[in-house]
Amino acid sequence: MQAPASVTFERRPTRQIHLGAVPVGGGAPTLAQIYALAGAGADIVRCTCNTEDAAEGLARIVPRSPVPIVADVHNNWRMGIAALEAGVQCLRLNPGNIRNPAHIKQIASMAKDLGVPIRIGVNAGSLDSKLYQKHGGATPEAMVESAQMELAYLDEVGFEDVKISVKASNVPLMVEAYRQLADATDHPLHLGVTEAGPPPAGLVKATAGMATLLAEGIGDTIRYSLTADPVEEARAGRMLLEALGLRARKGVDLIACPSCGRAEIDVIKVANDALAAFGEREIPLQVAVMGCVVNGPGEARHADLGIAAGRRKGHLFVKGENVAVVPEDQMVAALVDYAERIMADGAAAVLAGADRDAARRAAEADRAALLDEKGADVNHSEERVELIRKSMSAEPMSGESPA
Ligand code: SF4
Repeated sequence: MQAPASVTFERRPTRQIHLGAVPVGGGAPTLAQIYALAGAGADIVRCTCNTEDAAEGLARIVPRSPVPIVADVHNNWRMGIAALEAGVQCLRLNPGNIRNPAHIKQIASMAKDLGVPIRIGVNAGSLDSKLYQKHGGATPEAMVESAQMELAYLDEVGFEDVKISVKASNVPLMVEAYRQLADATDHPLHLGVTEAGPPPAGLVKATAGMATLLAEGIGDTIRYSLTADPVEEARAGRMLLEALGLRARKGVDLIACPSCGRAEIDVIKVANDALAAFGEREIPLQVAVMGCVVNGPGEARHADLGIAAGRRKGHLFVKGENVAVVPEDQMVAALVDYAERIMADGAAAVLAGADRDAARRAAEADRAALLDEKGADVNHSEERVELIRKSMSAEPMSGESPA
């Protein structure tokens, strides 16, 4: 996996010009979107190149882009040539769209001369009809054969700089196709569940497919194809790689307790407020929002930093040790403040500078007061256990056979 892009990019203000239908400069969406995608974690951005105007637009966009651009060439093989002339860093060819071997080889020869890699992008939905018939549908075998046929055309002109995708909207189909492809070739693979749909279902589908493969060591680049703002796609991709430990964490890893009868705050609201407050800041710490000081500090002692609510106060803890007490309405601000202090000086320095005894005494006092007020069984678990035991040990009713 490539190193993450930096989070924000300053854009030089420019006037806007139009290349045919494509606006460039002056905050035009094409480049603005590429910058936003890069800021959200995209290392590579794909742009459609299906018309002459689009190719001319790419010629202007590519040199200004903060990340490499892949041109998606649809049905017109000449657009592959035009995209290469525009200076793109990669081409995506769909074997189901450009089928004439002479055209494929002409594009590959030019890409070879320019040192531009090609992604063979097989898609279950646009599989070559001959393969579809041969295999009785868009099967994993059909998709892998499609990729191998395209590879063979490229091989004929000595082109080897290839990565491959075999996407489908059906997760088990996509997973099996990639597994078979991984066994059949050592080319890098680009993962994706195509047309996954809007979040949250689309996110779940795409994550199910890609995470399964990534956990098996399969996959070199990924893409979320969501019916959503592409920035959401890039953000999801970054988060998946971070969650799997395949990319260094850039942002905060916010954890929160599930809440229960002990909660002293609206945990969902405070956790979401904290997430919004941290935003895109580069603070790769695990930060916990806990609903009560009775159990919160213990349950989240592994976090770098956390806060637990109690009697209208927030008890801050660093690496499981109490460091400060703040009013409840300042819990989120205090979390951000302490996270920044840890980033600047390190957790040891923050712990050394805190009045830990006073913070611990305050937390213990609130914990004791809450236990006193609400009792030790605020969730009524023990009462229910007693109830179950009682009914299980009751005499069988007349006519009922003993279990
Ligand atoms: Fe959250 Fe406290 Fe309940 Fe644990 S006991 S889930 S920290 S409110």
